[in-house]
Amino acid sequence: MSDHKIETIRVHRILIPAKAVHSHGSGDVAGIHSVIVEITTDTGITGWGEASPWPVFTGTAEGAAAALHVHLRPHLIGEDPVQVEKHMAMADRMLIANSEAKAALEMALLDITGKISGLQVCELVGGRLRDDMGMSFSVANPDFDADLEDIAKMWEDGVRIFKFKTGFADHSFDVMRAEKLREIYGDEIDIRIDYNQGLRAYDAVRCIRDLEQFRPTFIEQPVKMHEREALAHITHVIDTPIMADESVFDPKGALYGAQIRIADIFSLKIMKSGGIRRALEVAAIARAAGIEVYGGCMFETGLAHAAGTHLMAAVPDLHLQAEFYMATYYASDDILVDPFPVKNGRIHVPTGPGLGVDVNPDKLAKYAVAEVLE
Ligand SMILES: [Mg+2]
Repeated sequence: MSDHKIETIRVHRILIPAKAVHSHGSGDVAGIHSVIVEITTDTGITGWGEASPWPVFTGTAEGAAAALHVHLRPHLIGEDPVQVEKHMAMADRMLIANSEAKAALEMALLDITGKISGLQVCELVGGRLRDDMGMSFSVANPDFDADLEDIAKMWEDGVRIFKFKTGFADHSFDVMRAEKLREIYGDEIDIRIDYNQGLRAYDAVRCIRDLEQFRPTFIEQPVKMHEREALAHITHVIDTPIMADESVFDPKGALYGAQIRIADIFSLKIMKSGGIRRALEVAAIARAAGIEVYGGCMFETGLAHAAGTHLMAAVPDLHLQAEFYMATYYASDDILVDPFPVKNGRIHVPTGPGLGVDVNPDKLAKYAVAEVLE
């Protein structure tokens, strides 16, 4: 029990334009459409959370705003913010799915708990096992020449991990891009491939085998999210490690995924699992099954990135590094007071109590696309 009570919950919906459209096997995305939740206690402490939905993947921003304001808020006012699991269990009872809204709620509660206790969020969920991690940028501009220019600039910045998005145009376009990247950057570039469900199961193996010659570190989600047995088959027959993203959301999905050996790697995302602690449960199942984990992100501001880095700081094993490039290299602006910490191609886990980042209210107002709900 703490001496603090939740007094107000404000829900902001924002849209930050992207520097360039990103294309995926599941469609184009031109900006970050997020819901920011601001929870304040009767003692004047504010915690921040973000829901970053992707309509073809997890849900919608409009739905996340309604989940937080209409369905969860009435059960939280007057409650003790540090009783995180109690509130998350309530959220699971009140609402099916809505993993992004649940992630935002947990983020804000952990931010408050950290500010009350003086501990960082990674310390609240197990401890800080690393201070930084390699950053992967997603190469997803349909104009590949523009991407090559961006990659060259990021290379200067020290970025060496590039995950390129495939399956949104011809197979020959995917092969050409993989070949070109290997040709220009040799062995120094760490190439990963993400189909975002873009292949058809019947000839997925053939397409993937064509790309294996360019030595990708992994190949992510080649087939549709519900084609789990097809994904397990691909994992079984392909030598390159296969990663499940859309097919594994939460601990239940991870358990089934481990049972059928759906993939060699799970992409951890707080927006899929419904928060940091559930993502650590996914990581625990993966670890027990000999499956690697990777730090994924959605179309997020630096706020959700901060939460994601605290998660990945607390994961016991991290060999494949993480994403969290959106705030630096995709969005035209961010909502944080200080720039999200990426230096020399590495993401630095924020320090300071709670999430260790501050939100600039002027930026919330600037990018607002709806009335604040309170
Ligand atoms: Mg993915």
